[in-house]
Amino acid sequence: MKVKFWGVRGSVPCPPSNQEIRAKLRAALERSRVGFKGNPDRFLDDLPQWITGLVGGNTACLEVSDHDDLLIFDSGTGIKNLGHQLVPSHISELFEQFYVTERLPVNSLEPPEGPVRQLNLFMTHTHWDHIQGFPFFRPAYVPYYHIDIYGADRNQIKEAFTAQQNSPYLFPVPIDFMKAAILFHDFPAEGLTVGQFKIDSLPLPHPGGTLAYRIKKGRKTVVFATDYEYEELGPLTEADPKHLATFIKDADVFISDTQYTYLDHKTKEGWGHSNALSVVEMAAKAGVKKFFLFHHDPNYSDEKLYDMLDKTRAYTRLLQKGPPMDIHLATEETVVKL
Ligand SMILES: [Zn+2]
Ligand SMILES: [Zn+2]
Repeated sequence: MKVKFWGVRGSVPCPPSNQEIRAKLRAALERSRVGFKGNPDRFLDDLPQWITGLVGGNTACLEVSDHDDLLIFDSGTGIKNLGHQLVPSHISELFEQFYVTERLPVNSLEPPEGPVRQLNLFMTHTHWDHIQGFPFFRPAYVPYYHIDIYGADRNQIKEAFTAQQNSPYLFPVPIDFMKAAILFHDFPAEGLTVGQFKIDSLPLPHPGGTLAYRIKKGRKTVVFATDYEYEELGPLTEADPKHLATFIKDADVFISDTQYTYLDHKTKEGWGHSNALSVVEMAAKAGVKKFFLFHHDPNYSDEKLYDMLDKTRAYTRLLQKGPPMDIHLATEETVVKL
């Protein structure tokens, strides 16, 4: 089982990759006027992460996969790069050629490489930063793909996806132009089984509402809960299945909205996002093993985010008597293996 972060922020930039930044730093060291004598990679490895890498600027998109089973959560701008991995550029170019020139019949094209054709996309909600990548999702243009899209209200999701594409003033390619089979579904109240994954949902407080998802495979559990406000969750009564604290109980990985610092949240109460310190306390009490800060504020620098991580870790050490919970920033391209 693997979790990969394709988008971790709430804005629309196209940032360079971590590898590109690293290559630039390495090249700068090699060309240093003072004549860097050491091993550039060893030197870079010893620097703080905010200097040598990027947290990432793409908006929310998460992959949970295992062999042929692929689950996608949210279609912020991060989904573009996931789509590019699924559909290599030479296949994409063939389709573009066909559709632009109309000279090539579809059945003359080789199917895309790789075994995955069935895709399952789970929407937390339809705020812009969670849907805006879909028009750039290559598999949606390829007829070999079947994309099931789930969320709290299939009609609302379909309306949001259609609205962002079907006005020529917003985007030039209408959703009907996409050749994949795209079907919208209400996420079933009893949960859903996809391959070896069992997925459950929980409604959370956010303007317009949002769904958290819990993904289980064998003994491993991942919970993804973004765009909710901890203070609006309400009191926890013992083992209340409708409370997030119960939903995340003993999770191996918990990926949570922590958009604001504790102080910044004071001026943004009611905006539908959480601060790291409040959430981490709930997660530690619930026995979460690995915690990821997610949905980073687009106005926070990487340095500020790593400082927030340090403070969150220090706070958790004060809270917990035993070994503290493992806490990380969600950063683009990071893969977590369970
Ligand atoms: Zn939202
Ligand atoms: Zn959001």
